[in-house]
Amino acid sequence: MTQQAARFPDLTDRIAVITGGATGIGRATAVLLAEHGAKVFVGDFDPVGTATEETTRLGITELRCDVRVEADVKALIDQAVSAGSGLDILVNNAGIGMVKPITDVSEEEWDACLDTNLKGAFLATKHAIPHLRSRGGGSIVNMASNAGILPRAHDPVYSTSKGALVAFTKSIALCHSIDRIRVNAVCPGPVGDTRMMNSDLDKAIDRAAISNQIIAASPIARVAGRMISPREVAEAVLYLVCDASAMVTGTCIAIDGGKSLGVPPSGD
Ligand code: NAD
Repeated sequence: MTQQAARFPDLTDRIAVITGGATGIGRATAVLLAEHGAKVFVGDFDPVGTATEETTRLGITELRCDVRVEADVKALIDQAVSAGSGLDILVNNAGIGMVKPITDVSEEEWDACLDTNLKGAFLATKHAIPHLRSRGGGSIVNMASNAGILPRAHDPVYSTSKGALVAFTKSIALCHSIDRIRVNAVCPGPVGDTRMMNSDLDKAIDRAAISNQIIAASPIARVAGRMISPREVAEAVLYLVCDASAMVTGTCIAIDGGKSLGVPPSGD
């Protein structure tokens, strides 16, 4: 493959901020955008020790940022803007799960989930928009979930946070089309090799059985016999931040093997 082919789409000179980019989908997205030439700044709650030969080689800058704290988020955006001379791309990826019946959810747990998954995206969007606008436009991608399209019984707070993130995506897309800022959501799941999925599986008595049950809930994952990879989700982000999607805004791309279509066929 030629260097030019490898670089299609070409994001050279684009400055990108990705929240929650130390692990999982955020990490895969940071690597993929950097491989396509973007100058990537990752903000994560816990970036310490995550720098590797790969991130160094790709010039990815990792900064500590708690997306629930406005001062942290503003500092992340400001550092990216001053080091990279502007901002073109924001990926609101940081998120946490919350698997609990609503009657067992404490006020602190509700706040933690909504603050990370929704308020974090609000804060980064708020501080990124003036910089995107001054560049003549840009792209924001919000990492929602299949739960944001089709809410689930086992995680009502998480489903609420992701449903609201989808609504936020559409609203901000409408508000800022005039600024040529495109805003889209990616709705993944089930994604393996992520801290979120592993922590759910670690709690299971029979890890393999639960993993198979999760895979079976997604029609294509089921026939493929595997979960979705972080890289497969990152590919959708790449499309949404590049010029090929110049006319795409306010959409949700489900990378979920059809999970959000409804009840899967039994396969029997
Ligand atoms: P992950 O746990 O591997 O990655 C989440 C990252 O967010 C971690 O690096 C974590 O340190 C960071 N983070 C958490 N709270 C933060 C905070 N307050 N401030 C800054 N960073 C914070 O899991 P993942 O699956 O890669 O999750 C990425 C996104 O994808 C999340 O928004 C998640 O809801 C979404 N998602 C994941 C799946 C899945 O199956 N794994 C499915 C649908 C949606």
